[in-house]
Amino acid sequence: MKAILKQGATLATALLTVTTLTGCGENSSTQQTVSPAAAEKESYNLRLAHTWPTKFPIFGDAIHNMATMASKMSDGRINITIDSKNKHKAPLGIFDMVKSGQYDMGHSASYYWKGKVSNTLFFTTMPFGMTAPEQYAWRYYGGGQELAEKVYAPHNLITFPGGNTGNQMGGWFQKEINTIEDLQGLKMRIPGFAGEVLAKVGAKPTNIPAGELYTALERGTIDALEWVGPSLDLRMGFHKIAPYYYTGWHEPATELQFLINKEKWASFPADIQEILRVAMRTAAYDMYAQSQHESAKNWASIKTEYPNIQVKSFPTAVLQAMKSANDTLIAERSAADPLAKEIIDSQAAYLSTARAWTKISDQSYFQTVEALK
Ligand code: CA
Repeated sequence: MKAILKQGATLATALLTVTTLTGCGENSSTQQTVSPAAAEKESYNLRLAHTWPTKFPIFGDAIHNMATMASKMSDGRINITIDSKNKHKAPLGIFDMVKSGQYDMGHSASYYWKGKVSNTLFFTTMPFGMTAPEQYAWRYYGGGQELAEKVYAPHNLITFPGGNTGNQMGGWFQKEINTIEDLQGLKMRIPGFAGEVLAKVGAKPTNIPAGELYTALERGTIDALEWVGPSLDLRMGFHKIAPYYYTGWHEPATELQFLINKEKWASFPADIQEILRVAMRTAAYDMYAQSQHESAKNWASIKTEYPNIQVKSFPTAVLQAMKSANDTLIAERSAADPLAKEIIDSQAAYLSTARAWTKISDQSYFQTVEALK
C-alpha cells in the first residue's frame, strides 16, 4: 500500500503538464506531459521574439523546429513561447528586446543591426563573398563564431546561425538595368552591405520588413526590391508588379540568426545550453536544406506557371562598378575599425582557401557533368 501511494504521488507529479509551442501560430500550443525524472528538475520557460509575420514559411519553420527539438530533447523542461512580429509589433526591434531581457531569445538577421553596431553586418552574408558551404565552414571551423561572439558580447547578446537561404536572387525590378546610370536614384529595398554598395553607385537603398514589401513596391514607395529567391518570392506575388527578376551577386549565403540574452544564457546549466545549441544548429541546417528544396521546386514552376517573369543578369559593366564600390567600402571599413579589419581579413583569407577547393571540387564537377550532356 505504501509503495502504491508513493507511485501514485510520483505519477501525480509526472502528470504536471507544460505548454509547448508546436504550431506556427502565435498562440498555438499543445499540452506535453513531462516524465517523472524531468518533473523533479527545474524547467526553463523562455520567450522568443522574431522578425517575421505569423506562420511565415521556412524562416518560421526553423524557429518552431528549434523549439520543438529543445522541448523533446530536454524531456519537456525547455518551453519556448514564440511571438511573431504580429504580436510584438517590432520586426526590427529584436536586437534591443533580447539585449534588454524583454525577450530571452530572438530570430532575425544580423545585418539588420548595422545601424546600431556596424560590425554585425558581416555575419549574414557579404556581396561577392562566400557561398553557404564555405560560410558554414568559416563560421563553425574557421573562427567565424568566435568573431561573432566578440561583436555581440558587449551588447549582452550571443548569436548563433539561424538558417541559411542559400544563394539569393538579385531582386525584382520594374525596368531593365542596362547601364550603371539605370541605378541612379533607384529606390530599392536591399539591406546589409549590399545596400551600401548600391548607395555608392548612386541608388537609394532602404530596408523594409518582409510584411510591408509588397505594398511598398505596389505603391511606388520603392522602385525595386530584393527579398530571397524562388523559395519565398513567388508566393509573395512580386512578379505581379515587377516583371524583371535578376540573378544574384549580393547575398550568396544569407544566414539568419538566433539571438540569446547573454546573462540568461549564462544562467543555464551545461545540459540546457547544449540542448539549445544542438537544437539551433540542427534547425539552421534544416532550414538550408528546406530552402534548397523550395527554391528548386518553385524555380521549376516559373516557366509553366509564371511565363511573364523575365529572368535577367546584370550586365558585366554594372557588376564591375558594384564590385569596385564594394572593394572601396571594405577598404574604408577596414581602415576605420580594428575589429572590422579583423573580421574582413578573416573572411578574405578563408574565402581564398575555401574557394580554391570549391573550384576544384564543385565547379570542376559541374563542368565535367555539363560537358557530357
Ligand atoms: Ca535578401
